[in-house]
Amino acid sequence: MDAVESLKEKMVLACKVLQDQDVVDVYGHVSARLPGERILSTPHMPPGKVALRDLIVLDMKGRKLEGFGEPNGETAMHTSIYKARPDVQCILHYHPDEVVAVSIAGQGIKVVANCGVHFYRGTPIYDSPVLIRNEQLGDKVAATLGDRNAVLLRGHGGTVVANDLDTLLRLGLDLVRTARIQIMAAALGPVKTHTQEECDQMVKFHDRPNANRRYVDYYISEVVD
Ligand SMILES: [Zn+2]
Repeated sequence: MDAVESLKEKMVLACKVLQDQDVVDVYGHVSARLPGERILSTPHMPPGKVALRDLIVLDMKGRKLEGFGEPNGETAMHTSIYKARPDVQCILHYHPDEVVAVSIAGQGIKVVANCGVHFYRGTPIYDSPVLIRNEQLGDKVAATLGDRNAVLLRGHGGTVVANDLDTLLRLGLDLVRTARIQIMAAALGPVKTHTQEECDQMVKFHDRPNANRRYVDYYISEVVD
């Protein structure tokens, strides 16, 4: 199987996991860079329902090159982030309740549990609920994201970026889980967050080969027969 076919299969599986874990619903989208200034994307349909044949290919302006479905309404967010961040290989945008709740509290994600360590460099908040339907707004989200791996969009959702789909899936699930723990802990009173030193120590292990294998295999096993 060539690299593009393998990427397509991984993207469909990632979408099924996101659906199975209740972090996407009727909305949300996943994309990945392809060689030759192109982008592979889920189309304008619920991501968890996407099959291989539904995936579309876009140019770097978000115009469709291949496939039957239409591009998502917020495609500009993806193209702007790819333009601003040559290191980013894939992007997830979604609207989980927990992430929306944290964004409206104006808090950003706090590193309150080990699943939140990925986000120790901060999760800036894009301060508008308006959907990202043009390049100008896409550029604003990309600027808010900066060099981080996640941005929250106030009253709207979140966007995570990564170098590969396995990491993207992990960040996508762990962002929601951390937000959930943050909300639960807030009900108990003041919270203690991981220190900078603790985070520095823990992220050292994130780059080791196959760091996400066990995690990703577990969630994929839940959605395949
Ligand atoms: Zn959205």
